[in-house]
Amino acid sequence: MRHFTCDLCGDSIHDDRYVVKMEIFAAFDPDELKESDFDSDTLAAVSEQIAAIESGIVEAPSDSSAQRFRFDLCEGCRTRFADDPLARDAMGRVNFSEN
Ligand SMILES: [Zn+2]
Repeated sequence: MRHFTCDLCGDSIHDDRYVVKMEIFAAFDPDELKESDFDSDTLAAVSEQIAAIESGIVEAPSDSSAQRFRFDLCEGCRTRFADDPLARDAMGRVNFSEN
């Protein structure tokens, strides 16, 4: 029998297991060219950027393809996740403590 652990609280999941699947993807076409992309200044800047990436000075931009995540949750964490899937409460607390 396969053993599952909650990806949020770390407890073993004995009974009810819930799966959260998330996907992040660009809601725009990252490869779409705009009129301004053809300006000579922009082309020169892109050439410099490519040269810098090829020489290892600058890290290549991260892949813009979709990222998929999958998490196993226990029943308690499933309820907490469903109440605040973007962890806005935690973000608010972090912002508050910076004041
Ligand atoms: Zn849990």
